[in-house]
Amino acid sequence: MADDTKLGSLPVLSNQGGIKHFEHGVHLLQLWANICILETDEGVVLFDTGFEFNGPRIMQEVGAITDQPIRYMVYGHGHADHAFGSGWLLDDLQKRGAPRPTIIAHENLPLRFDRYQEMLAYHEHINRIQFAIPDNLPAFARRYTYPDLTYREAMSFKLGKVTFELRHAQGETDDCTWLWIPEAKTACVSDLWVWSCPNIGNPFKVQRYETEWAKALEEIAGREPELLLPGHGPAISGRNEIKDACLTVARALRFLHQEVVSRLNQGQWQEEILNNFAWPEEFAQSPWLAPIYGHPYFIVQGILRRYHGWYDGNPSHLFPAPSSAIAAEVLGLAGDQEKVLSRARALKEQGHTQLALHLVDFLIQARDQPDRSALELKVQLLEDLAGREKSLIARNILLGGVRQIKKQLEPKK
Ligand SMILES: [Zn+2]
Repeated sequence: MADDTKLGSLPVLSNQGGIKHFEHGVHLLQLWANICILETDEGVVLFDTGFEFNGPRIMQEVGAITDQPIRYMVYGHGHADHAFGSGWLLDDLQKRGAPRPTIIAHENLPLRFDRYQEMLAYHEHINRIQFAIPDNLPAFARRYTYPDLTYREAMSFKLGKVTFELRHAQGETDDCTWLWIPEAKTACVSDLWVWSCPNIGNPFKVQRYETEWAKALEEIAGREPELLLPGHGPAISGRNEIKDACLTVARALRFLHQEVVSRLNQGQWQEEILNNFAWPEEFAQSPWLAPIYGHPYFIVQGILRRYHGWYDGNPSHLFPAPSSAIAAEVLGLAGDQEKVLSRARALKEQGHTQLALHLVDFLIQARDQPDRSALELKVQLLEDLAGREKSLIARNILLGGVRQIKKQLEPKK
């Protein structure tokens, strides 16, 4: 167990790992996302296939391990960093006259691919912000290789002497598959484990599933794996360590679910819940729940969205006026912009950065051409928050805001 001084340096999303070899023909290729290379005496099973551009590296690593053909590719879920290396791999195998592997996924995965293609421009836009992808690079997958075979709850197959048990779960997505290899006591779990507080309530993305995620982790722990291969970051070894990891995160998810549900039952509205939900020290300090990608606040948002409509309890907000009109009224009352700016600066000095941001927003939203000093102060405030923020997603959103304002501040050509 790591202590909390290590929280900031946990290996989430590490692309430094490279290839790791384990017993029973199990190999983990640790790139941005992980690819499990599972060797049998009758061929190879790939669990997850990375980004499209990971294809050549995957092929190189498989070739270094064995001459056996790739017989199956299993998508752990349909995200861009897990299910898109397959296209390149199929092309390469075809060029070399090798047999075509069978691609297996949960039955919801093709629906995800359909949605991604229908909303490609939107996914480009939100992923560019979430991952801070420069404007000149594509921010989302273009080529979709659909599974040949889908299943609903569970399926198993045998290759050589090895059994592959696929189990459906919902967690970060509604199309998760985790794989159990009984002979190796190994679980390949894709993003059901990412070395971070689970990414539920992602500010950009569709609904995710807290209690189902907990159930999946409990089921994984119930198999008593000796080796757990996650979707990102290094493997976890040892029965007790894996059990503690899975069950701690499951408990935290069930805790937040209960926290939101019981507060809703008490008649609390979103703002009250978001400002007051409990996050016990046990979880706040747990290395398994470091808020370095997902965040407990986001999880509460996600659970709220799942069980609650968008109405916030204040009838003034049912059909609200545009924020620009509200800001213009407030600024009119304040009388002069300097007064608001100096109060915002004072709040910043006192460490109330978030409150200062709200004040500066009145100045920015009230005008078509906001004053430079207000924009510059907002940049400083966002940079302040980003500097203290552990969550990659939150930090990228804050710094995305900085980049946007800086563009606005550039002299027009
Ligand atoms: Zn992932």
